[in-house]
Amino acid sequence: MSIRVIERIRAMQAWADEVRREGKRIGLVPTMGCLHEGHLSLIRLARERTDGVVVSIFVNPTQFGPGEDFEKYPRTFERDQELVEQAGGEVIFTPNVEEMYPPGFCTAVQVDKLTEGLCGASRPGHFRGVTTVVAKLLCAVKPHVAVFGQKDFQQAVVIRRMVRDLNLNVEIVIAPIVREADGLAISSRNAYLSPSERRVARVLFQSLEKARERVRAGEREASGIISAMKAEIEAKPMARIDYIEMVDAETIEPATRVEGRVLVALAVWIGKTRLIDNVVLEKK
Ligand code: AMP
Repeated sequence: MSIRVIERIRAMQAWADEVRREGKRIGLVPTMGCLHEGHLSLIRLARERTDGVVVSIFVNPTQFGPGEDFEKYPRTFERDQELVEQAGGEVIFTPNVEEMYPPGFCTAVQVDKLTEGLCGASRPGHFRGVTTVVAKLLCAVKPHVAVFGQKDFQQAVVIRRMVRDLNLNVEIVIAPIVREADGLAISSRNAYLSPSERRVARVLFQSLEKARERVRAGEREASGIISAMKAEIEAKPMARIDYIEMVDAETIEPATRVEGRVLVALAVWIGKTRLIDNVVLEKK
């Protein structure tokens, strides 16, 4: 059975209505394509919880800032199609930019507070683009469950908030980070790294592991944990820190100590490529 590719919102909604009429549950995995094992794990998780999985592939221009990599973002549709099929997805929803943002489009969904720190601070307007496109994808695909990766932890928290605040009738599931053998979180942007940059990039995970070890050993102060991480990353000439922070995992507000569930999140430039990663730590 070959996979169905849908490009129009109306056709997507008609498919969803039909599936819902049959009493079946729909899963959605939103992506920007260039699929990898991280995305595939989300598709498998969605399959376990629903009867038919839609993978959206849309490189959303409104979540990229000026000078970011929208133009050069890797587009590998044919390969993506094979991977979705292998992972058991049923539909690829791949609207073009005009379909999503026709002339006259002037609406946005904005989640406040949770979007102020971390990636929200370094990428102004990014989350407004994300929440607006995800709201539109939810209206097009009408899923019962939508799966997002912990890799983009802040994004997942922001989308959960949006869903609650707007009473959207969908369950948001957050899936664990899938990593390469050396710990680097898999990302479409890893393709930008040269071989030497790729070797350096493992320092992101190594520094997060260091944070985890320190907490396991009893350290609680954010300042000590963060400065050890900074020292490790700054020792690599190709790496430049955008941010490293400890925040409350629910509110995304700065945390000075490991108490309850905290998130240690970082964004680091390796050459011209900005990579993110995180770990959730809990004081038991
Ligand atoms: P993207 O195509 O980068 O926008 O990512 C689409 C979805 O896949 C988002 O929910 C990401 O958090 C998730 N994702 C990306 N990389 C990974 C990974 N290494 N492990 C788990 N989920 C991921």
